[in-house]
Amino acid sequence: MAKKKVATKAEREHMSKVASLGCWVCQRPANVHHIRPIGLGIGRRSSHYDTIPLCYDHHQGQFTIHNCKQQFEDMYGKETNILQEVKKRVADMEQANDLFNFYNTHKGEI
Ligand SMILES: [Zn+2]
Ligand SMILES: [Zn+2]
Repeated sequence: MAKKKVATKAEREHMSKVASLGCWVCQRPANVHHIRPIGLGIGRRSSHYDTIPLCYDHHQGQFTIHNCKQQFEDMYGKETNILQEVKKRVADMEQANDLFNFYNTHKGEI
């Protein structure tokens, strides 16, 4: 079986953007949770891009996505739907950053 894949720089940057959104449920400082790919064989690692932000309590605590997934999804929505929303927000964030960088780079010219 393959060793744990080390995240590339781009993947790490993506994950830090995901984490910077704050916990999906309570907005507290978060870590990333990897969505398990559905319908793929065992051994297929989930992608570092398929991550959602969750704080410890909503991630590894008692009634969480890891310990009580059904209950978690009943309360907060399916993790695949959350993932779509998270990806949208990160894309918005990237767009805002691009504009900001563009403005800063071209400040003297405008
Ligand atoms: Zn939380
Ligand atoms: Zn997790």
